[in-house]
Amino acid sequence: MRKHIVAGNWKMNNNLSKTENLLNELKKQTKSSDAEVMVAPTFVNLSHAFKTLKQTDIEAVAQNMHFAENGAYTGEISADMLKSIGINTVILGHSERRAYYNETDASLAKKIDAALANNMRSIFCFGEELADRKSGNQETIVASQIKNALFHLKADAFTNIVLAYEPVWAIGTGETASPEQAQEMHAFIRQLLSDKYGDAVANSVSILYGGSVKPNNAREIFSKPDVDGGLIGGASLKAEDFYAIVNAF
Ligand code: PGA
Repeated sequence: MRKHIVAGNWKMNNNLSKTENLLNELKKQTKSSDAEVMVAPTFVNLSHAFKTLKQTDIEAVAQNMHFAENGAYTGEISADMLKSIGINTVILGHSERRAYYNETDASLAKKIDAALANNMRSIFCFGEELADRKSGNQETIVASQIKNALFHLKADAFTNIVLAYEPVWAIGTGETASPEQAQEMHAFIRQLLSDKYGDAVANSVSILYGGSVKPNNAREIFSKPDVDGGLIGGASLKAEDFYAIVNAF
């Protein structure tokens, strides 16, 4: 059975005291679903979050990392550094990283390799822009993002890969892909995996949906057979809203 996962991407939000407040609020929530829960605070608060969440079933994860092991990359963070503070999972290729920091499929392939070499799990994000959706090119775009960044991997690497389909036009806009649009794309992605790696791999990989998931739409989106969870931005900044989504499974 595939894992259900709900991950909160806090992006560049919350200073230390706000982080502490949100972590404390999260610890008070009750989980009634089988979903694995993750939160991704900023790097400066990540070690603190890891320690605060240690005795809980919430995993602290990173929002990004560099592909190099170490060296002259001012402002960057390596897999080894993340591992050394207890972090085992990293979000890679978020559309904001692609759009504002020039992340490409080629650099993301290297980041995926670095994560795997360090025995880390990656949540690999991808998705089409509005113009692609309007011109009906969404499947071509998504297929190329996945092939370019992941299809050099061996099948067994996929035990450490989670996919996150995030149509760029639905992120932070209040505009969600309809549950049907999400299901259609997730089924397409699973077929792509199956064609390359076979059904066993395709059926074992969790595919999350991201883009304006809220307490009032999560249940319908999560009810779709190929939607295995969500990557949540805005609604992950309030503990009750986030747990309403966690408990929507
Ligand atoms: P949103 O962000 O939920 O605020 O749309 C999703 C994301 O960027 O992962």
